[in-house]
Amino acid sequence: MSRADYSPTERRRIDAAREELAERFPAEAALISQAVELAARHHAGQRRKSGEPFVFHPLEVARILARDGLGHETVIAALCHDLIEDTDCTRAELERNFGAAVAAIVEGVTKVSRSAAKLSPSERKAGTYQKLILAAASDARVLPVKLADRLHNLRTIAALRRDRQQAIARETLLIYAPLAHRLGMSRIRTELEDRSLAITDPAAYAEASAIQAEHRSRAERELGALRGELEKALEEAGLSAEISARVKSRYSIAEKLKRAEPDELADVLGLRVIVETTEQCYLALGAIHALWPPKPGTFDDYIATPRANLYQSLHTTVIAHGATVEVQIRTREMDEIAEYGIAAHWRYKETLRGGGPRTTRRFLELAAEGQRPSGEGEQAVAAAYEALRRELFAEDLVCFTPRGDVKLLPEGACAIDFAYAIHSELGDRITGARVDGRLYPITKALPQGAVVEIVASDDGEPSVDWLEAVKTNRARSRIRAHHQADLEREQAEAGRELLVRELRRAGLAPMARPEILEEALAGLGHREPEEVMRAVAADHSQLRYVVRRLIREVAPRSQAPGSVPETGLPRPRAREGAVLVEGQQGIPTRLAGCCHPEPGDEITGFVSMGRGVSVHRSDCPNITGLRGERRERLIGVQWAGEDRTFQVALDLAYLNRPGLLHRIAEAVYGAGAELVALELRERSGGIVAGRCQLRVAGSQQSDRARGRLAGIDGAMRVARAASGS
Ligand code: MN
Repeated sequence: MSRADYSPTERRRIDAAREELAERFPAEAALISQAVELAARHHAGQRRKSGEPFVFHPLEVARILARDGLGHETVIAALCHDLIEDTDCTRAELERNFGAAVAAIVEGVTKVSRSAAKLSPSERKAGTYQKLILAAASDARVLPVKLADRLHNLRTIAALRRDRQQAIARETLLIYAPLAHRLGMSRIRTELEDRSLAITDPAAYAEASAIQAEHRSRAERELGALRGELEKALEEAGLSAEISARVKSRYSIAEKLKRAEPDELADVLGLRVIVETTEQCYLALGAIHALWPPKPGTFDDYIATPRANLYQSLHTTVIAHGATVEVQIRTREMDEIAEYGIAAHWRYKETLRGGGPRTTRRFLELAAEGQRPSGEGEQAVAAAYEALRRELFAEDLVCFTPRGDVKLLPEGACAIDFAYAIHSELGDRITGARVDGRLYPITKALPQGAVVEIVASDDGEPSVDWLEAVKTNRARSRIRAHHQADLEREQAEAGRELLVRELRRAGLAPMARPEILEEALAGLGHREPEEVMRAVAADHSQLRYVVRRLIREVAPRSQAPGSVPETGLPRPRAREGAVLVEGQQGIPTRLAGCCHPEPGDEITGFVSMGRGVSVHRSDCPNITGLRGERRERLIGVQWAGEDRTFQVALDLAYLNRPGLLHRIAEAVYGAGAELVALELRERSGGIVAGRCQLRVAGSQQSDRARGRLAGIDGAMRVARAASGS
């Protein structure tokens, strides 16, 4: 370029801005410089209304965004944001120099301004918001660039005619300030509002300015009186905090004046306390509440539950020496998000690259929340989207109602999803759809930017087949709800199969029989058997829980800590000398409670500290699972002789049949064993369960007794006593 295009003074200002930006992005300094020079070259000769070189505008927009913490791609896009619209620079040139992301942002910004220019004023009002969102679907960073663009235009608005100023200020208050609010970019929002107010209502602006100045000096005075006390309390809690007074913006003061709520804003001192960590926020809250009594019902925890625009803070109102003080407590990061919104969020999360589909979606959702249906110029606005939509590329589908309302849907969503997104009732009753005025299959994926009109009928009813077409959870769950009965039956059957399989695996095949299973499930008490089966099918993690409950139902009641044991039965103990340790008699041993070894079992000893040798079955997981040093404490043990008798505890469960007790006794004695104790209790579902204690001579006799007990009609469970019960 020819350096003569700019005066030496102008050139110095360009260089200063370039250096400032390059300093912020040292790694991308070369790209930034290139963008500054590209803008300076293409805008050379163009002047703004003020007479300044046009390039000062993109330079300032870039500085605003750099200040707000946006990344280098957004800043480069800001430097180039008017190039496609106002110069012969092309998208291809931008993409070649700075990559596809920068080119996409600039193109998005261009689309918003260009198409707005083609619309009549009322259509523009109705459509700008939707167009912003649509343009942002390709890259969400279009929105901050557009906001900063508008902010700089307001800063330099004095050069424009009065009526242009009015129009720009009104549009700013209508569209851009609410958008900045949705995105949590409150620094930009406040400046947009205050500057617009100065144009739309200079008198209100002057009044609000005077009140604000008065508030500020009083707030500083009052804070001065409280600061020492507050700092001391925080210090005692081990906190160093930054404390400042908050003053309302001129625009919000003017709004309150308009609604005649002057005392509300006069009486309250607003304080902000900034600490380092989230934990410190709560500590500071505690310290403040200990210092000054909180006003009941005023505490809000936006840390645990952030606002939609990601705002986080603790809010509380306290009474300090008779004065009402509103306190906001937050970390530095939360404070930056409060000021710069999603831009600061990006900075912290470092997901700036391409915006990231999730961030983009979040951005769009935030922006879409602010949009309100407008009755004006609908068809024309819809036609404008039509022109834009084919150029758009996005992960998310942006569709419109005939009135121009935006609906964001996942890629591949169909008219059914769209109908449910508008209203559940509408989804239930959909019978057809028109896309861009033409009939369109309701199960077919919608095209990007489609204007969708839903045809509904009072006797329409959701079809199960839709489940294969829909992409949104909302549609899926509503359709399911409609076909609950069918689905419930299927699901219960699936749950039953899972339960039967798991019960068989747990050795409880008798309980898996349909009538017994239903009785047993009913016996669990709080839910219908079918409901339990459905729950199991829907959530497999419930399977183990239910089976465990069923097993517990047929097993002896476990003793809650501190409860009175139900049975007086002692744990089986090896008698003195029953087990030889490495061939030696007289070493204290005890039979392990986890695996209940019986004579004849393969056993292994474990030297437990100060408690002799504990004797486990060799296949006990507590033995086979030992590692490292603890393995060295294993010791060889053997049964002293098979002729000794031992007590064996068995868990029993039977369907209650007449003469059951008699048959149990018969089985035990028939095996040659001795019944020491028997404790059975009636359970739900006609089950009796409990524990019996046998004296047996050796494992063969024990096995025989178990076999006979299991042979009794109605047996559900005969097993060695489980550990811990
Ligand atoms: Mn611009």
